[in-house]
Amino acid sequence: MERIEAVAWKVVESLEAAGFEAYLVGGCVRDKLLERNIYDYDITTSALPEEVQALFPHTVPTGIKHGTVSVREEGFQYEVTTFRTDGEYEDGRHPAEVKFVRSLEEDLARRDLTINAMALGRDGTLHDPFGGQFDLFAKRIKAVGDPVKRFEEDALRMLRAIRFAAQLQFEIEEETLQAISEEAFRLQQISRERIRDEWLKMLLSHADTAIQLLWETDTLRHIFSRPTVEPEPWERAAAWTADAPPDIALRFCLVFAALEIDEPRMDKTLQGLKLPSQLKKEIRDLFALQKTEPSPDWPDSTWRQLFYIHGYETIWRRCMMRAVIHEPDKLPFWREQVAQRREQQPIWVLSDLALTGEDLIEHGIAEGPALGHWLKRLAQAVLQDPSHNEKTALLQLVQDWQANS
Ligand code: ATP
Ligand code: MG
Repeated sequence: MERIEAVAWKVVESLEAAGFEAYLVGGCVRDKLLERNIYDYDITTSALPEEVQALFPHTVPTGIKHGTVSVREEGFQYEVTTFRTDGEYEDGRHPAEVKFVRSLEEDLARRDLTINAMALGRDGTLHDPFGGQFDLFAKRIKAVGDPVKRFEEDALRMLRAIRFAAQLQFEIEEETLQAISEEAFRLQQISRERIRDEWLKMLLSHADTAIQLLWETDTLRHIFSRPTVEPEPWERAAAWTADAPPDIALRFCLVFAALEIDEPRMDKTLQGLKLPSQLKKEIRDLFALQKTEPSPDWPDSTWRQLFYIHGYETIWRRCMMRAVIHEPDKLPFWREQVAQRREQQPIWVLSDLALTGEDLIEHGIAEGPALGHWLKRLAQAVLQDPSHNEKTALLQLVQDWQANS
């Protein structure tokens, strides 16, 4: 057993020793039964948040209003949440109040999907009042209780259902799927950040399954802020993302390319989804290269120039994009090409030159804008002919240029 799990059980044991009930619950139980990697362990308990805080030396009141206390033990962190129901939902997003309850079963009933509504006790007993294990084996995504009601309470659950269908390659049970189509409009109420997080997980998993389901249920429009018109562009997007390595910027751009979205539209989508700025930059950089079609016939100097201007990552993504769109079986060819060119790249930035501004000053070049100008010219010379990248050769070049100017 992994240490992180052994320590989770120790937390459970401490709660029990203090007279409370405690179980592993939710995603970690699901993933344990599926023998998937588990990243976070959640614990559900009859202890009130104050009682949890009193019991463990290192706690953080992460979501105390909702009954969640993070417990740190041996360098690991666990979310320990008091049995609760969500009370009445006012707006399809936030329960107006959470109510702490006595029984595990009530707590499991508030959870979104049957496969996420199981708890595991220290004695090995699986508490599974909604048939989650059965659905796991049947590879079925099914809401706990009446799906329409559950999606009315919290519309994000619809995207979670689709996301798990994509990640696990499960089918969404009919009534649940039907309810998603009916209630899709409620996604308008959901914060862009929550939508973004689900979409990014979908895009990194079996994105084709996700896109297909999002299309079918007409939930796509809430991610891309545009009506979904014909199916073909989305079929293309699904096919391309399925063939692409799991890289977010790459897959985003493939979707944009499939939809033939222009730059303002792309910008609007990125802003709307509130993506982190680094990711936005990666996507924009790649998008800007759409018209630069990589060719096996590119001369060496073209590779060097493009690497220098756009950076390795963007060029590699552009090559993957080309392969995925035109010839997916050529991906290894492009991987090899790019790896080889990367090895041969003489400089990536000005400071990779075998000579610095100081060297130039030492040899009588005046400080000031001219210095930058010479360095840039040297970089160009090196990109044309990498053998120039040697100190004396570079100095000689500058001296020649000066003499001729
Ligand atoms: P993963 O961590 O792989 O994304 P997870 O199921 O663990 O999947 P979390 O967001 O970590 O997802 O949530 C933990 C548990 O909390 C879920 O398994 C589920 O029981 C419950 N849960 C999470 N979000 C919701 C929701 N919107 N509605 C109802 N229950 C939820
Ligand atoms: Mg989780």
